Amino acid sequence: MKTVAVSIVTPDGPVCDSEVSMVVAKTTSGEIGVLAGHIPMVAPLAIGAVKLKQANGSTELVAVSGGFIEIRPDKISILAPSAEIAENIDVKRAKEAVKRAEGRIQNKQDDIDFKRAELSLKRALNRINVHEGNI
Ligand code: ATP
Repeated sequence: MKTVAVSIVTPDGPVCDSEVSMVVAKTTSGEIGVLAGHIPMVAPLAIGAVKLKQANGSTELVAVSGGFIEIRPDKISILAPSAEIAENIDVKRAKEAVKRAEGRIQNKQDDIDFKRAELSLKRALNRINVHEGNI
């Protein structure tokens, strides 16, 4: 099977650079699976898992907190505010973030705080799910 280059970049630097057989990502309008030779397109990403399917059949999971996917026939670039490979996720930190966010959601002061807490909760739950392979 043909492979395609993929890179995931955040403001802190590159998170991964790889050559894969398929990338599955969660766009704001649904999940897409991208193979080599895909027509060019750009789509906004939801908070979710990116699955990097390797030529040997294994899959690497990356937690991505939004951003964009840019697809070209020979290269897929993901630009995200933050992204972590499953094995680099600190689950204790994410569980603490869940507790903090849930507390803020319960004691909501205003709509902006509520929205921020909701997004923080989504990022933390996504990290936990990606780390546990529960997606
Ligand atoms: P927290 O409240 O724990 O800081 P957050 O969702 O506000 O979480 P972000 O602003 O998305 O954090 O990310 C800030 C930096 O911390 C990024 O580099 C991100 O990759 C990293 N990061 C956040 N949470 C984790 C985690 N649980 N494990 C590993 N890295 C994390």
